[in-house]
Amino acid sequence: MAKMYYDADINEGILKDGKTIAIIGYGSQGHAHALNLKDSGFNVIVGIRPGKSFDQATADGLEVLTVKEAAEKADLIMILLPDERQKAVYDAEIQPALKAGKTLVFAHGFNVHFDQIKPPADVDVFLVAPKGPGHLVRRTYEAGAGVPGLFAVYQDATGNAKELALAYAKGIGATRAGVLETTFKEETETDLFGEQAVLCGSTTAIVKAGFETLVEAGYQPELAYFETLHELKLIVDLMYEGGMATMRSSISDTAEWGDFVSGPRIIDASVKDRMKDVLTDIQDGTFAREWIKENETDRPKYNAIKKAESEHQIEEVGAKLRAMMPFINEGKKQVKKEVV
Ligand code: NAD
Ligand code: MG
Ligand code: MG
Ligand code: MG
Ligand code: MG
Ligand code: MG
Repeated sequence: MAKMYYDADINEGILKDGKTIAIIGYGSQGHAHALNLKDSGFNVIVGIRPGKSFDQATADGLEVLTVKEAAEKADLIMILLPDERQKAVYDAEIQPALKAGKTLVFAHGFNVHFDQIKPPADVDVFLVAPKGPGHLVRRTYEAGAGVPGLFAVYQDATGNAKELALAYAKGIGATRAGVLETTFKEETETDLFGEQAVLCGSTTAIVKAGFETLVEAGYQPELAYFETLHELKLIVDLMYEGGMATMRSSISDTAEWGDFVSGPRIIDASVKDRMKDVLTDIQDGTFAREWIKENETDRPKYNAIKKAESEHQIEEVGAKLRAMMPFINEGKKQVKKEVV
């Protein structure tokens, strides 16, 4: 078993006493880290450009500065900007403020691992990545619990990087649930693989394929929606609670037999071969290069695919059906943008 770190293992004084933490960005992760750290008794400031996030952070009672001012003032700088914007903001506003002995932190290893951001040698660099959506990082903290997380030290200039990383993880509530040590390479590659091969990429593709198969065979689209998308959450909730056995004990034996005999006909050995191809593209930097290029050219492919996806029949049918189930939309504000 890998070593897990919990609250009792950590003395957070190293980051609490006389130190200032700047949270750069106030979106899904940013608001959760800033508010949790503040409630845990750390000195927190927020660095953000003017706009909605700036107004929100101010309304939440935080000291809000420009990115440059916050980076200059802080001992520890946590970058919680969208991954594809981090390099530009880092080069212009953060890098000039990185004096020797400061600490630079990320919640995902993409920019450091793929050489977009190259920190100077005299600062500590680590990541603390909650394994859950930002809004849950906040909600579980307020409830006295936490979202588990990962930490990884990339550069230990002061000799204190690991202690600082664990203190930060404790401040956001992650060590209430357990924190595991990893590397920038492992965190980046597994996070990208999970979201592409299973969580987001394959799940949306298989739901659409199932929906289209039923509709093309003449079945009602509304029924196809319930069968392939709506029910998916109920099944996944059971797997989350108790693994596949709990899910399978809750479905009929007919459904379980169908699971056993038909699942492998659809997800056959060739799927794993293609998953290995996706993993190779992540590992050798092909995926990162294409995504960086896409952002440098105003996202032509991204925008075209996003538009086509939003016009898929399952989205139109689903919007009408969900409007008739208002209880589903109660969690909508929280769920928006919460994934991966
Ligand atoms: P987000 O899109 O929710 O928020 C980004 C914030 O940055 C917003 O406040 C936005 O206003 C601000 N911003 C954007 N451009 C800016 C600029 N040029 N100057 C100043 N501020 C700017 O981002 P997020 O989903 O919280 O992701 C932040 C980091 O956390 C990423 O590295 C991501 O990979 C990582 N992460 C996210 C999640 C998640 O659940 N969303 C989970 C784990 C790790
Ligand atoms: Mg059924
Ligand atoms: Mg059963
Ligand atoms: Mg995001
Ligand atoms: Mg992830
Ligand atoms: Mg991710």
